[in-house]
Amino acid sequence: MLYKTHIAVTYATALPLMAMTGPVTVGNLFALGLGSVMPDIDHPKSFIGNRTGGISQGIGKVFGHRGLAHSLLGTGVFYLLAQALITSFNFPSSWLSWFIAGYLAHLVQDSFSRTGVAWLQPVINKRIQFGFRIVYYRTGRTAETIIFWLACGGVLYQFSRLLK
Ligand SMILES: [Zn+2]
Repeated sequence: MLYKTHIAVTYATALPLMAMTGPVTVGNLFALGLGSVMPDIDHPKSFIGNRTGGISQGIGKVFGHRGLAHSLLGTGVFYLLAQALITSFNFPSSWLSWFIAGYLAHLVQDSFSRTGVAWLQPVINKRIQFGFRIVYYRTGRTAETIIFWLACGGVLYQFSRLLK
């Protein structure tokens, strides 16, 4: 899935939750969006990979795309990193929650791709496909384009409700 689809689908699904549980702030939205693209740091040519240079190349080389960064263990590691950063700069703790919500949303979205995600690696390396290999999309193909535009509509609808 392309980064823009990850962001759009994550906002479309998480905005109602954010509005229900607390304030919709620029910081919370940014943390959510950043979390939703972060797992692809293991792919140097991805949106986030392009912006993190050597770090992305290192992670990509050692773990591979959809390797450990795309797992519960990877989520835990990024949780600890984000927590350390957020506490040392005294940022709002809600940023951590929304960052991780975005991160997990990315893994769920990738799980609907044709190849799925190995959530339990390195213990179990089998990839899980959430659509039982019947419901799936391929990155950049028509199904993803449709998902992207539907999600954009969802985001606009959510924001129009919030601004009322
Ligand atoms: Zn991914």
